[in-house]
Amino acid sequence: MADSAAAERHDFQAEVARVLDIVVNSLYSKREIFLRELISNASDACDKLRYEAQLDSALLKDDADLKITIATDEKAKTLSVTDNGIGMSRQELIDNLGTIAGSGTAKFAASLAEAEKDKAKKEKSDVNLIGQFGVGFYAAFMVADKVVVTSRHAGADEAWQWTSDGHGSFEIEAAPADTPRGTTIELHLKKDAKEFADSSRVRHIVTTYSDHIGLAVWLHAGDKSEQINEAAALWTRPKKDITEDQYKEFYRHVGHAFDEPWLTLHNRVEGVIAYTSLLFIPERPPFDLFDPARRHGVKLYVHKVFITDECEGLVPPWLRFLKGVVDSEDLPLNVSREMLQASPVVAKIGKGLVKRVLGELQKKADKAPDDYIAFWEAFGQVLKEGIYEDPDQRDTLLKLARFRSTAADGWTSLADYVERMKDGQTQVFTITGDDPASLKASPQIEAFRARDIEVLLLTDPVDEFWPMSATEFDGKPFTSATRGDIDLDVIAGTKTDEADGDKKDETPSGDLGALIAMVKLALGDKVKDVRESKRLTDSACCLVADEGDLDMRLQKMLQAAGQAPGDAARILEINAKHRLIRAMAEKARQDGSSRDVEEMAFLLLDQARIIEGEPPLDGAAFAKRMADTMARALA
Ligand code: ADP
Ligand code: MG
Repeated sequence: MADSAAAERHDFQAEVARVLDIVVNSLYSKREIFLRELISNASDACDKLRYEAQLDSALLKDDADLKITIATDEKAKTLSVTDNGIGMSRQELIDNLGTIAGSGTAKFAASLAEAEKDKAKKEKSDVNLIGQFGVGFYAAFMVADKVVVTSRHAGADEAWQWTSDGHGSFEIEAAPADTPRGTTIELHLKKDAKEFADSSRVRHIVTTYSDHIGLAVWLHAGDKSEQINEAAALWTRPKKDITEDQYKEFYRHVGHAFDEPWLTLHNRVEGVIAYTSLLFIPERPPFDLFDPARRHGVKLYVHKVFITDECEGLVPPWLRFLKGVVDSEDLPLNVSREMLQASPVVAKIGKGLVKRVLGELQKKADKAPDDYIAFWEAFGQVLKEGIYEDPDQRDTLLKLARFRSTAADGWTSLADYVERMKDGQTQVFTITGDDPASLKASPQIEAFRARDIEVLLLTDPVDEFWPMSATEFDGKPFTSATRGDIDLDVIAGTKTDEADGDKKDETPSGDLGALIAMVKLALGDKVKDVRESKRLTDSACCLVADEGDLDMRLQKMLQAAGQAPGDAARILEINAKHRLIRAMAEKARQDGSSRDVEEMAFLLLDQARIIEGEPPLDGAAFAKRMADTMARALA
């Protein structure tokens, strides 16, 4: 490429421009983290090159000693970070540094969009967000008013230069032909950021944030040059020599994370297969935890050489919140990413990791229950996927699971539920819905409430699925309280007088025969059956699923996903103790073809649907019946 080629101007993607705007103007107090971001990127670039060079050793050429060099110049007020890693092509410079590519920045942009919706919150949130997420490469603009990136991709003939002041656009032009492989990020420091050209300040920052890097970091100031870190990858060092802060910084580096690790697990396994693992569970869930494309964040190394961060077999999807590193000597260095998917060694290591993580979670649950709840609230939904995806871990996971319940305000375990079960109760009762408060008030569990029988309130989408494969806990089957066939009378000591209703009336059941026949006739195939309810105590009616039918909420979800046929007819249960039902029954007995009873049958069904969060069968017809009935009541 001719040196005379003019610089070409490109606009930043809108989201980037917005991020930069905040970064440039931010008064964020921990500006020094920009250096951690640049070193982290340089280290990633060297890891990538080392891996590529396994397959093509020519890439390393005569420059095989991968390292990071930081140079300061107090006079010129510049700081540069150089690596001899993989480098970037012209297109990569444009894509990686002009659009939202980095994970950290993507999170930041997503949170900005979230904050944008709420103008009042926005003002305050920007600066906080930087602290929470970091902004990767763009953090450079916190301290620099001009950034020049010069890069040659390994093996490429051309080198390119990217320049920007962080205001809306950047320029790309050809770089000198003798530009070495890798990348240099040169920062022209802002007036108020001169401190970052001071070599002792820089040394301090590097040892604080980046000491764990497995690469040598050199500091070049004036005519002095020296290595300023240990260059031993953190996971290879003995546990006792590692401080909590070092673990924390390593977590942020390896996980592209900006919170703190909730749990740190560092251990060495010797045996048939030897490996070291350093795993972290984050404090907070990432914004894309439920994105189907989301993968776990555990990187695989072989003999300290980075192989891939896309080794699916290493960590099951239901532990996708894990971050960290696994390093094994028992895989060949030249293993391809494809070979890894089928590798029994990887599968073995994966099994070991699962066991270890679940074991530690159980310990936490036993010893620090409150802290464990914080974890459960962040990642419980994901862990529950394992109950149906991994039969081997089912029992362990059920022990770890926590639930909302009618018997307690906070969270409860299944073991505690079983402890509280009534004599004669053989099942664990559950109800699924959108939020605990409305489930607690649901007419479907009125009888359970009246008899003080505990029901677990399941509100996560995944709760529709795991009970189908995990049918029991401790020999007690999970049973949906919305099933039509539950007989609560067998549960000793719960058939209380209040439950039978002294304030209600004495109407013996059995008198509903005529009414039930009329309602059935009127509603036809809109319902599967009409029955007298054993579950209702206060409400007039409700809908339940028949034995063997899909649970109602699951039916709705599958339907919404286009995976189940339209409305499945359900059973309408009516409450013989309710004033309205009694009056209707009386009317039905007197007049077997009463128009009123027919109309009211539809109103009953629509009522039951509304309680379920569904629209009436026919909105206009519902409104008309309602109005007619109200008018008659006043007539
Ligand atoms: P992240 O590191 O989370 O991906 P960054 O904003 O820090 O996000 O970096 C964006 C992208 O720019 C990186 O993913 C990488 O592709 C590229 N990049 C940044 N610095 C370098 C470097 N020194 N060498 C090669 N590529 C780099
Ligand atoms: Mg980065």
